[in-house]
Amino acid sequence: MDKPDLNNMSFEEIEGLISHLGKEKYRAHQILKWIHQSGVSSFDEMTNLSKVFRKEIKELARITFPLIEEIEESKDGTKKVLLKLEDGTFIESVLIWEKSHWTQCVSTQAGCAMGCRFCLTGKYGLKRNLSPSEIVGQITALRFNTPEGRDIKNIVMMGMGEPLANYENTLKAIRIITSDTGPCFSKRRITVSTCGITPMIRRLGEDISVNLAVSLNAPNDAKRTYLMPVNKKYPLKELIDACRTYPMPRRRMITFEYILMDGINDSEEDAKMLTSLLRGVHCKFNLIPFNEFPGSEFKSPSDKKLRIFQDILIKHHYTAMIRTSKGKDISAACGQLSGRKHDNSLHL
Ligand code: SAH
Ligand code: SF4
Repeated sequence: MDKPDLNNMSFEEIEGLISHLGKEKYRAHQILKWIHQSGVSSFDEMTNLSKVFRKEIKELARITFPLIEEIEESKDGTKKVLLKLEDGTFIESVLIWEKSHWTQCVSTQAGCAMGCRFCLTGKYGLKRNLSPSEIVGQITALRFNTPEGRDIKNIVMMGMGEPLANYENTLKAIRIITSDTGPCFSKRRITVSTCGITPMIRRLGEDISVNLAVSLNAPNDAKRTYLMPVNKKYPLKELIDACRTYPMPRRRMITFEYILMDGINDSEEDAKMLTSLLRGVHCKFNLIPFNEFPGSEFKSPSDKKLRIFQDILIKHHYTAMIRTSKGKDISAACGQLSGRKHDNSLHL
């Protein structure tokens, strides 16, 4: 059996492991700091541990990080990072520059099983869930091995996969990312993006207070079920109810992501329906023009249509930003992460 990966483990779990070696609690603290605060994966580099202890722990456990295979830079500065996992699976993380810092968009699954019609990741299907180590490791790998690393301030779980379909591992990863022996990000700087698995939204709210983004994409059930099969099981009323009661960090609003697809969900009537659907919900909108990809069945709307849609939301007192997808030229834009090296075309 594989030795346990310390990058998967909480402080208490490492403490338990080393207590068998008769070691003091603070040793767990030291190990975690090496892993998460110095990006060290070799026990030999942990110079404040005795040589004997290093040898003992090496026999008991291992530490893995995803390896950076390739970094592609877009004209707008967005960077798509291809990472190789221990079993050879490729995943992607994206770095997006936002005024004064980088936001890292991390993957929670290799592929995705949710089958949204407009999403390239969805078209590939699910390969497997990522472990907490593989989720946290994306952050550590970039923080310590790229020049941008020290300026990563926000984490969005908006890369490949559906975080709430890999709930336990995502939650554990968030706990590690926000713990003071880990990378130590504030919960206010973490955003989980979901297609709307309602019971898991409720659970997330009970378990931890992080920002929530919901990929909404339609103003009524008929359109949403057509675009996102998950809506059949968890229709809009239930989804909006879960959003209404979701405990956001103080003074933060839920973000609804809405991809505008020409002639599908971008009419004035759609915008008006959206405002009534969300009446009374403390939220803001990110309007994303559909990112076309080879073989995609939808088109991006004209700028004029985008503006009209945005204006209707603003008139109803919502914050609505148009987010042109970053990194288009390198397929790092929303929904274009495939994790297939040098291959962004569709092979279905
Ligand atoms: N599964 C989660 C997290 C992945 S985020 C979720 O769906 O929220 C992927 C984001 O990219 C989602 O907001 C999705 O709506 C968006 N997206 C997918 N395909 C897209 C496309 N072709 N153009 C623009 N945005 C897209
Ligand atoms: Fe999966 Fe999100 Fe893409 Fe839907 S939009 S297929 S849930 S990654």
